[in-house]
Amino acid sequence: MNRSTTAADLDASFTLDAAVLVQRKAVSARRLYTLQIPIVRAVGFAVLCGIAAVQDLRGDALFPQPELLWLVLGNLSYAALAALLLRLGHGRSGRVDLSLLLFHLDLLVWLVNLHHLEQGSLFFAYFLLMRVVDQVGVGFRRALYFSHLVTAAYLGYSVWMSFYDPAQSFWLDRLGIATTMYLLGLYLAVTGLVTERLRNRTRQAVRTARALVESLAQKANALEAQAAELEHARHQAEQASFAKSQFLAVTSHELRTPMNGILGASELLMASPLTPMQQRYVQVAHRSATAMLALIDDVLDLSRIEAGKLTLNLTSVDLRALATEAVDLVAVTSRDKPITLSCELAPQLPPRVLADPPRLRQMLVNLLHNAVKFTDRGSVRLEVSILEDTQSALRLRFSVIDTGIGIADDKIDSIFGAFTQVDGSSTRRHGGSGLGLAIVKELVDLMGGQVHVESRLGAGSRFWIDLQFEKVAEPATNPEPAPPTMATCRYRSSSPKTTSSTRWWSKKC
Ligand code: ADP
Repeated sequence: MNRSTTAADLDASFTLDAAVLVQRKAVSARRLYTLQIPIVRAVGFAVLCGIAAVQDLRGDALFPQPELLWLVLGNLSYAALAALLLRLGHGRSGRVDLSLLLFHLDLLVWLVNLHHLEQGSLFFAYFLLMRVVDQVGVGFRRALYFSHLVTAAYLGYSVWMSFYDPAQSFWLDRLGIATTMYLLGLYLAVTGLVTERLRNRTRQAVRTARALVESLAQKANALEAQAAELEHARHQAEQASFAKSQFLAVTSHELRTPMNGILGASELLMASPLTPMQQRYVQVAHRSATAMLALIDDVLDLSRIEAGKLTLNLTSVDLRALATEAVDLVAVTSRDKPITLSCELAPQLPPRVLADPPRLRQMLVNLLHNAVKFTDRGSVRLEVSILEDTQSALRLRFSVIDTGIGIADDKIDSIFGAFTQVDGSSTRRHGGSGLGLAIVKELVDLMGGQVHVESRLGAGSRFWIDLQFEKVAEPATNPEPAPPTMATCRYRSSSPKTTSSTRWWSKKC
């Protein structure tokens, strides 16, 4: 079953801190050598004493035999002495492994016990294997060493017995026991391999985890430093951008005054009696000044928006009037092209909404102006449709659709950037500064809306803006005319040479 780890499953004491781990290891080693091993040793000897006593009790001789008393006394004294030595010597014995030394001594004391117990059965020899078992947890090599040592000790004891008490030598039995003991010892030592492998794996896992934690900590530090640098860079960039916007706002504002002077003066000059050549020169100067003023206005607008100085002034707006006015404004620029300029308004469009009329008009004019600029023939259409209509608000879509040159797919993402033009030669051929769409985007963002574009190279483009407006209650005293089924206003140039006054205009609304 798949079960995710919860906080309760985690071992709160688990740590990878090397210092803490060393400290814990020292504490557990102290507990092992000064408490656990002495206790196990004492219990082991107590059990041996118990077995010896039971054996003596069963015998015919007097109980307790003096030999048993000595054995018990010897066992307990040895266990106490070993415990004392371990306690006093722990951490002070230098290069001598006191515990290992005592394990060897244990073997001698066990042999003495064996000699007493053997009178009951030779099989008590297997008790010696306990020494091997004790070492399994330490590792394969230690267990293997003790398995040999135990067998050698037993064989040594057997040789000693054959001299000391030849009647008890039972060589055949003893050799069988020694062989079995050796094989069992080997088997036990091999089980130590598993323990050792597990321990190595745990060590390796802890080492890997520690290395991972360290590299994570390093990465976290590097990320923190990077974040601080980024924050610093962002702050600097913001300051630079603010300073740039301030500079642009101030200089653009200062430039407008002399530009208006030039425009006014050239208009006065144009109205005065001039030779045809002078008239042409003045017209060129006037057109250039007008273009310059438009550019200054765009720069001023963009820098004011970027500096956060542009606020929206919401008033009650007649959307129909505003849309037709925007079309009217660009009609002048389309007069030299065979283009049909039209605007279609949704019939259910409420008479008034709350908006910032100059800014809304500016956005529509920018889009319409581009559409006309990049369309040589065909049509340019402004559509206002309703996306959502509730009691107090409505979402509208303003679409400007043209049949112009279109925009290549790989360029479409960049056109809303300031001073960005799809084609480098655009300024030369069509004029413009690459600021119109940037201003539209900033204004749409300011109004909480979205602007989108879809386009096909050579087939035309469609820009649309989705905006939310609050409705304005219509004053009862000044009722608007009933909405038409589809409001349409249309301009069409009759010939490339026509002027705005000769163009025909149909207005079904
Ligand atoms: P510009 O002053 O150059 O028109 P804009 O920011 O208004 O600057 O437009 C950026 C660029 O996007 C234009 O130079 C043009 O390449 C492209 N563009 C904008 N509108 C259209 C359109 N209706 N059709 C084709 N290209 C367009």
